[in-house]
This record gives sequence, structure tokens and C-alpha cells, in this order.
Amino acid sequence: KKYLDESLERKRLYNEVIELKGNIRVFCRCRPLNQAEIANGSSSVVEFDSSQDTELQIVSSDSKKQFKFDHVFRPEESQEAVFARTKPIVTSVLDGYNVCIFAYGQTGTGKTFTMEGTPDNRGVNYRTLEELFQVSGERGGVMQYELFVSMMEVYNEKIRDLLGENSNQPTKRLDVKQAADGTQEVPGLVEARVYNTEEVWELLKSGSQARSVGATNANELSSRSHCLLRVTVRGTNLINGQKTRSHLWLVDLAGSERVGKIEVEGERLKESQFINKSLSALGDVISALASKTSHIPYRNSKLTHMLQSSLGGDCKTVMFVQISPSNADLGETLCSLNFASRVRGIEIGPARKQV
Ligand code: ADP
Repeated sequence: KKYLDESLERKRLYNEVIELKGNIRVFCRCRPLNQAEIANGSSSVVEFDSSQDTELQIVSSDSKKQFKFDHVFRPEESQEAVFARTKPIVTSVLDGYNVCIFAYGQTGTGKTFTMEGTPDNRGVNYRTLEELFQVSGERGGVMQYELFVSMMEVYNEKIRDLLGENSNQPTKRLDVKQAADGTQEVPGLVEARVYNTEEVWELLKSGSQARSVGATNANELSSRSHCLLRVTVRGTNLINGQKTRSHLWLVDLAGSERVGKIEVEGERLKESQFINKSLSALGDVISALASKTSHIPYRNSKLTHMLQSSLGGDCKTVMFVQISPSNADLGETLCSLNFASRVRGIEIGPARKQV
């Protein structure tokens, strides 16, 4: 009874928020200047406003631009603070909602830090699973949940299973297929049932290792592929027998940096074309959803096609736009912020008057 009341109240509050703001959130996170940048005298071009946490300004010698998001995380903000804002959205997968969380930005801006984190400063992925176990335990008398984890990489429009056997030798070609109920599936993808956070941590580690196998330069490869963690939740309501199945996708996107046309050729050119194509396809899908356009162009990339059933409708989406504060990255930072503003359908305003 208590659970049902709580669940109804949560849904009511959630619907209220949705009516006001829609179900797409864009969060911006700025990393701190790193040691090398401090040593070489780089300065920060990002200015925050102490009175609110939804706007920032990019200040350069000849311009000042203001950007507005659903939330802005400053360099000093902790992984806990970031997760506190993400938690209500990711845990709604237990109520039967499909959820997608993306980290977007130039390589080196903290996408992996936000999603994976480090062993002693864990990110959204691990904290999410920890929370899902916690909440499903609390609901034990009313709901029974089964959690499954899959991990894959999308590189040059090819899907590779990171938990599959011989994942270093991707003989098994995975592709997106439409299931009988109209949802998108990836037949053959390994789904590992998980019972506790230790198992999850081991799986996440082995997935990350599989990702770098075969790469001449692991860091470079990971910056040029999308890494997707999918959590499947199967729930059974013990009171009325109703069953739910929902997906939560946690996506560390390929680096958004533009590669100079002149110095790139061969494989590298092909890669950057695939990355541009899939990132702009993702931007197109989210902005079409935000503006409530009737045609949503899901089929333009593997990424959006695979996520089709989890983007749109009453699905929830969070995009973390990661930026660097350094003056040396100004161009890429503006590109990322412009992309995010377009996605959110928010106009960029003129800089606020300095007082
Ligand atoms: P990306 O995945 O975007 O290429 P990384 O997550 O690898 O970037 O981050 C680059 C470096 O910056 C890493 O050493 C990471 O630990 C550090 N870093 C990123 N964001 C933060 C942050 N908010 N606080 C502290 N260090 C960070």
C-alpha cells in the first residue's frame, strides 16, 4: 500500500515536471584546468554566476556568450553532486520508463570521468547500479526485479559486444533488428544477470578491458567509438502480477572534436565521418523530439536506430555536455555548447550586462 501510494505520488510529480519542461534534460559539466594547463599558463574562459546554477558565460578577448542549461556543474563539483541530479531519472527505469543518459564532448573533457569515473571516485554507471539494487531491495515486498547488464561499442557504424566471448575477435556481427512488438533489439548481445554491485564492478572492468584489446592506442580508440552500457530491468508486481521490462542506456559518446580535413586521410577520415554522422544524427533526433516534430529521423545512424525505443515517447533523456575551461579549447567548447543548445531548442542569448 505504502509503495503504491509512493509510486503514484512519484508519477504525479513527474508528470507535473514533464508538462512544464519536457522529458529531455541537458546538463553541462566543466572540468577543472589540469596540471599541464596550469603549468603552461592557460586561463579559463568559462564564467559562472554565483546566484544561479543554470547559466554560464564563455568569455574570450573579442566576445562573450551566454548559455543556459537545465543545470550547470562547476569544476569543483563532486561525482556525488552530479549523481544526485541524475538519480531520480535513472531510478525511474524501475517504474517501467526507458531512460538514456549521454556524455557528449571533446576528448579529454571528462565524459569517461562522468560515466565510468575512477576506482576511488566512481561515476554515474556504477552509482546507478548501486542505487537500483538499493531501491529494488526496499521495494522487495511489492516488486520483484531482475537486472541484466550488456555492454557494447559502436565503432565505424559496427556494433561490438564487450561482454561476449572472444570480444577481441569480433567474428559475431551484431545488428539492430525490429522485434515483434516493434521495439529495437540487438539479437545475440550478451545480457549478464547481475545480483550485486561487486559483480557489476567486475563486469564493467572486463567490458572496459575488452574495449581496448586490439587497439594500438587504447585512449585514441576509445575516443573514436561510442561505449554503451545497457541495463535491462524486468519487474513483476507481486500484488497484481503485472510485468514490466525497461531499458536504461548509459552512453559515453565518441569525442566530438572536429578533425582538420587536410591532415586526415584513409582510416582516420572514415572514422571521423562516421563519428560526425552519428553525433549529428543523435542531435537531430533529440532536437526533433524536443521540438515535438512528427518525423523523428532514427534511422540515420546505428546509435539512434539502436536507441529508438528508448528515445522519445515518455522515455527520459539526459545529455551531459562536457567542456574544458581552457582558452586553448575555446573553439571546441563553443561547438559543444552550440550543439547542446540546438539539441535543447534553447536560443543563445546575448551576454548579460556586467554590473
Ligand atoms: P573524455 O572521456 O572526455 O576523453 P576523461 O574522462 O578521460 O575525458 O577525462 C580526461 C582527464 O580529466 C582524466 O584524467 C580525468 O580524470 C580528468 N577529469 C575529467 N573531469 C574531471 C573532473 N570533473 N574533476 C577532476 N578530474 C577530471
